Amino acid sequence: MTWEAVIGLEVHARLLTESKLFCGCATSFGAAPNTHVCPVCLAYPGALPVLNRRAVELAIRMAIATDCEVQPRSVFARKNYFYPDLPKGYQISQFERPIGTGGHVENGGMTVRLTRIHIEEDAGKLMHESDRSLVDLNRAGTPLIEIVSEPDLRSASDAAAYFTRLRQILMYTGACDGNMEEGSLRCDANVSLRRPGAPLGTRSEVKNVNSFRYLARAIEFEIERQTAILESGGKIVQETRLFDPAAGETRSMRTKEESHDYRYFPDPDLLTLEIEQSWIESIRGTVPLLPRQRIARYQQDYAISAGDAEVLTADRGIADFFEATAAEAANAKSAANWVRNEVLRVLNDRKTELADYRVTPAMLGRLIRLIDSGAIGGKAAKEVFDEMSESGDQPETIVEKKGLSQVSDPAAIRDAALLVLERNPAQVEQYRAGKIQIFGFLVGQLMKEMRGRANAEMANQVIRELLESPRA
Ligand SMILES: [Zn+2]
Repeated sequence: MTWEAVIGLEVHARLLTESKLFCGCATSFGAAPNTHVCPVCLAYPGALPVLNRRAVELAIRMAIATDCEVQPRSVFARKNYFYPDLPKGYQISQFERPIGTGGHVENGGMTVRLTRIHIEEDAGKLMHESDRSLVDLNRAGTPLIEIVSEPDLRSASDAAAYFTRLRQILMYTGACDGNMEEGSLRCDANVSLRRPGAPLGTRSEVKNVNSFRYLARAIEFEIERQTAILESGGKIVQETRLFDPAAGETRSMRTKEESHDYRYFPDPDLLTLEIEQSWIESIRGTVPLLPRQRIARYQQDYAISAGDAEVLTADRGIADFFEATAAEAANAKSAANWVRNEVLRVLNDRKTELADYRVTPAMLGRLIRLIDSGAIGGKAAKEVFDEMSESGDQPETIVEKKGLSQVSDPAAIRDAALLVLERNPAQVEQYRAGKIQIFGFLVGQLMKEMRGRANAEMANQVIRELLESPRA
C-alpha cells in the first residue's frame, strides 16, 4: 500500500504599501541598512503603534479576491519570542481573530480551501559574516498577510501550481508585487504522509521557500524522507526544517513549537480592528477581473483557446494590453495572436518590461486594422511591427516612410502579371500542359515584380485567370 502526501501552504506576502504597518517608515527595498527606522519599529519604550489603513485595505482586497469572509472585527495579538531581528521581543500578528476566514482558490480543476488570511508585521534581517552577525531593521514592521491553506494539496506539482496561482491573484489585486527575489513572497510548506483514508500523520514544516521550483523540490524531498522513515518503522518528529537549494535537501532547524509556547495575548496598545460593511463594499468595487474569470471570458467571447488564454492572463499587464488592443483593432483573435507571438517575443528578447515598451495597444490595434482593411500585407505588417518596437513610430508613419502600402488596384496587378507571363513563356506552356506546380513560381515572380506589395489574394486570382483564359 502506498503513502499519500498531505500538504498545506502558509504563504507570506508583503503588502504593497508605502509605509510600514504601525509607523511612517518607508518600506522600499534596497536602502542602506537601518535607515528606515524610527522609535516605533525600533521598539523604544513608550512608542505607540498606529495602524496603516492602506495595509488593511489591501488585505481586505485579497480576502475578497479569494472569496474569504471579511471579518467585521479582528484582533492584533502579540506573539512573544526572542530573536535578534525582533527588537520588541514579540511580533504583532492576528491570532485568534484574523481579518479573513474561509475562502478558496481555484486552479484548473483543483480547489484549495483557505483557512484564513491574517495581517502581521515582518521581522528585520540578519546578515551572517564569518566572525559576526549584523542586524538590518529596515524590514522590521513592514506589513504582511499570511494566507493559510487547508491541507488540500496532494503533490509537489499541485503545491507549486497553487502557489503560482496565488501569486497571480496577489499581483492582479495589487496587494503584493510578487517579487520573490526580494522576498516579497515566501512560503512555508506543511508536509505529512498517511495511508489513504487514514487520519493525518505528523507533519514537518519547511520554512521560507522563495521559488516555485524550490518549493516543489523541497516537498519532493520531504515525501521521500518521510516515506523512508515510515517504511523502516520509524516515527516522524514534528519539526521545522530548512530547504538547502544547493544540496537539494531539507535539514532540521528546530523541533516545532506549539502556539501556546508563544504566549499570545491581544496587544494592549491596539484597539480591536472594526471594519464597516460599506468600506468592504467599496473595496469590493476595486477588485479587478481575476485570471480565472478572464480565461473564461476570452474563451467564451473571443473564441480563444484555453492555452492562449492562460498565456495572455499570466500577467495582468499583458492581459490589460491584450484587451485594449482587441478593442482598438475590433479583432480579438488577431490581437491575441499578435500579443502572444510578437509582443511577448520582443519583451522576452529584449528583457523589457511592458511599462517600458514603446508599442501601445492603440498602435498595435491600428496595425491590425491596416491589415484587416487590406492596406498592408502580412509580410509588411511584420516589418511595421518590428520598426514600431524599435522606434516607437506610429504604424501609418512607418507604412508611408517605407512604402509598404499594399497594392490592391486590379489594373496595376494585371499589368504586372501580363509582363511576368510574357517573360516566362516556357513556364506558361508547362502550366498549360498540366504541370500545375508552376503556378506558385509565377505568383512569386509577380510578387517580386511588385516588390512584395501586391495584395497576395488578388495576385493569385489574376495569375489564375490569365493562365486559364486562352487569349493570354
Ligand atoms: Zn518605523
